[in-house]
This record gives sequence, structure tokens and C-alpha cells, in this order.
Amino acid sequence: MKISEIGEDGLINRIVNILKTSYIGDDTAHVSTDGLNLSLTCDILIENRHFLRSYPPSFIGWKAISVNVSDIVASGAKPLWALVSIALPNIEVSYIEALYEGIKSACEFYGLEVVGGNLSSSELISIDVFMVGKTKRALRRFGASPGEGVFVSGTLGDSKAGLEILLSNKKDLTDFENYLVERHLRPTARIDMLEHIVKNASACMDISDGLLRDLDRLAKRSKVGIELYPESIPLSKELKTYARLNSKDALELAMIGGEDYQLLWTQSESSVNVFLDMHQIGRVIEGEGIYIKGSGPIEIKGFDHFAP
Ligand code: MG
Ligand code: MG
Ligand code: MG
Repeated sequence: MKISEIGEDGLINRIVNILKTSYIGDDTAHVSTDGLNLSLTCDILIENRHFLRSYPPSFIGWKAISVNVSDIVASGAKPLWALVSIALPNIEVSYIEALYEGIKSACEFYGLEVVGGNLSSSELISIDVFMVGKTKRALRRFGASPGEGVFVSGTLGDSKAGLEILLSNKKDLTDFENYLVERHLRPTARIDMLEHIVKNASACMDISDGLLRDLDRLAKRSKVGIELYPESIPLSKELKTYARLNSKDALELAMIGGEDYQLLWTQSESSVNVFLDMHQIGRVIEGEGIYIKGSGPIEIKGFDHFAP
């Protein structure tokens, strides 16, 4: 059997069966020792899979840190330390220095420190970050209850549109195109939402593989269904402009495009903070599956590392 036949989630289930651990299944592993509660995570960026050699290396460094901070924050923790393992061919030293300038500025922005790492030679560049956060309140993908609201931060779909623009090799980008490209190359993890979700979220994760796929993961792990309000999914004006000018469906980009690095969580509808960048996109219901009012369950599409 090939991995593509069971997909990323199927492969994770098999690994869990071998390790017999209950720590796998959330955005980070929540561990405790001597009264200290930590969140551990790692995420890798690989050349040609996650980025191209032509991208500015400082942005790749920024993103390698940000995607890990996104998981740490989604699990209710404050990022503290990171180790960075880089595998690389014999390229210009200035490339790696620029990469580390990006890593450094991200660490300053989020308030964490790189305290070590590893270097190896390789055909392609890869940057693997291991990060440790101190848990304020462990947030998991389970815990959502019927009657609660489903919320997201920010706007969705911008990163996917930015990737499409990058891959089109278009020159002389307009303002809205530059905005979307930057959302893809240099995402910002929502550390600004940490206090709110730690106080209010019943279940939480970050959106990295597309809203629908990640909603489905949260619903399955919480053993609930979700009624989705598609008209309430936040779309940027830049995404709407891109969709209009390129005959694309902005809502579809927002629902199945990946790498948003926004937060997805459930909480009581009565604790909405109108001063925060949070948007209710649905409601938790009994049962299973993702629904739009008046129609059947939605087919789950999104990014899978091992999809054929
Ligand atoms: Mg995640
Ligand atoms: Mg990952
Ligand atoms: Mg991740």
C-alpha cells in the first residue's frame, strides 16, 4: 500500500498505533514535568515543496519560525525557545545569513529565542524547526460542545492566491497582488489572539491545510458536527479583487486554500470581543460532518501532503 492511499491523517493514525501514545493529535504535544507545562512542536519547510530557491531567503526564515509559532499559539502556549536544523547544498553563505536574518526578526517579533540547531549537507534546502512553548492553558482540538460558535481570526484564502500569483511568474505586480504574495511568503502567526483564546476557547487549532480540512479535523476530534455560514467567512478585499479579475471563486480559495496560519476555535457566542480580529463562521451542532444550512454534508477538500 502506498501512502497516497491512506493520506496524511491515515498515516498519522498508523504511527499512533505503533507508538501507543496519547500525546499525538493536537497542534503540539502538551507535556508536564515538575509542575511545568510545556507545548512541543516541529514543522519543516522543504525546497520545491514549501518554497522555491528564488524566494527571498529572509522571508523563508521568517516563515519557518512563524509556522511553528502558529501551532504553539493554537495550543494555548507562549513560544520560548527553538532549535533550527538546516540541510543545504553548497550554496552562497550570504543566502544562509539572509535566512537567519529572517529567523532573527521573527524571533524578536514573537519574543522567543533560537538556542541551537544542526547543519547537514543535502541536495535540497530544508529548514526544520523544533519549538518549545510554556502552556498558559492547554488548548486541544477536542472540547467543542454543541451550541458554541465557531470562530476564525483574520482573512482566509490570501496565501493560496499569493501562491498562484507567485507561480504564474507575473512581473510588475500591482498592490493587491503584492499584498497576497506577502501573505504567502511572510505569514504572521496570531500571537496577538493568545490571551483571548486561552481565556475563551473550548477547542482550537491553526488553519494550515485549508479551512474545510482543518474544520473537519477539529469536528472529528471533538466528536461534533459543524454548521458553516459561508457568507460569514472573512475575505480580504485584495482576495476579492484577485478572484474577480482572474475568474476565480474567492470563497473556494478561502475554504480549501492552505497556509493561512490563522486560528480556528470554538467558544461561547456570548464572549465575543468586538475589538479583536475574530469572525464567527459557524456553530457547533450534535452529530458529525460539516454542513451548510439546508444542504447535506460538504465534501472535505484541502491540502494533504500525500494526496495522489
Ligand atoms: Mg497546526
Ligand atoms: Mg506540521
Ligand atoms: Mg503546523
